[in-house]
Amino acid sequence: MTAAAGVDTALQRLRDAAARLSGRQVTFMEVCGTHTMSIARLGLKALFPPNVQLVSGPGCPVCVTPQGVIDRMVALARVPGATVCTFGDMLRVPGTESSLERERASGARIRVVYSPLEALAHAEAHPGEQVIFLGVGFETTAPAIAQTLRQAKAKRVANFTAAVAGKVVPPALHALLSDDDVALDGLLCPGHVSVIIGAKVYGFIPAEFGVPCAVAGFEAAEILLGLASLCEQIAAGRATVENLYREWVRPEGNRRAQAVIDEVLLTADAEWRGIGVIPLSGYSLRPAWRDFDAFERFGIPEMHAPEPRGCRCGEVLKGVTQPRDCGIFGTHCTPQHPVGPCMVSSEGSCAAEFKYGGR
Ligand code: SF4
Ligand code: SF4
Repeated sequence: MTAAAGVDTALQRLRDAAARLSGRQVTFMEVCGTHTMSIARLGLKALFPPNVQLVSGPGCPVCVTPQGVIDRMVALARVPGATVCTFGDMLRVPGTESSLERERASGARIRVVYSPLEALAHAEAHPGEQVIFLGVGFETTAPAIAQTLRQAKAKRVANFTAAVAGKVVPPALHALLSDDDVALDGLLCPGHVSVIIGAKVYGFIPAEFGVPCAVAGFEAAEILLGLASLCEQIAAGRATVENLYREWVRPEGNRRAQAVIDEVLLTADAEWRGIGVIPLSGYSLRPAWRDFDAFERFGIPEMHAPEPRGCRCGEVLKGVTQPRDCGIFGTHCTPQHPVGPCMVSSEGSCAAEFKYGGR
């Protein structure tokens, strides 16, 4: 079957399933930022049946990193002798007073890297620098961070640390679904995260909340089939986790990656932008790995800061406000001059709407 025929078939299946809902309006959430971007780029929303609405969720690790953590990272960039290594999306996220990009313009040594291993290699090649890797990400990034720290320990690289600020997705979904402001009829679960954690972990969502889930890939047909599955489950009066991404996602996930994470990191309560503190939803270094904790080594305390004025990123991340409902969308807040992180990150809902919103 050609790709176009695959999309047509998937779309027909979604339309048939939506028609079986007898006019009931349903609201689904795509949890993952790459789904958000794919849906916007492919203009898929224009194809949806009128009774199917899709809202974006807290699926971009950059967007959910709270302002206080950005401020801590800015503080790390100001440590004398430090070289901060970060994924590119973090550079322009505004903190309270500054951003990593502004620190770089003021002379801080900030390097964009594509992996934590690249940061470790830089540390080995530059023993005179204190190299700090900013560990922002979900379960997808955690194995690479943990593996890099194992290597740093084995090689005794003394000038390498990590600012671990990673997040764990399932507790955030639990918090979202427990929130009275949030009313969702189904979840399109993340693809890459599920490769690591598996599909089974979402079982609590149908069991506790009666909300169906579909794990789906990122192609148009895969996304449409995921939504069709959600409609079909509702029409049949059932709620399960349907794994439509079987070539990559196993029920139990990637056990080896989970073991590496588990050796180095533990889960702790963590603050999510707009959602607040969620129990056991963030990564932290295990006590045996604290020597590699950048915040501890350089004495950077916990910081908490309010959202920028006028910014509704928190509500956007919960799916209760759409990007265009933010009063400063496209005026004060644009990709060139972002006020909130959802406009910065390549996976952010506001950036997706700004770039592809006309489709
Ligand atoms: S890392 Fe993968 S699963 Fe996580 S938000 Fe990005 S695309 Fe989605
Ligand atoms: S438009 Fe800007 S300020 Fe408003 S929610 Fe989006 S990113 Fe936040």
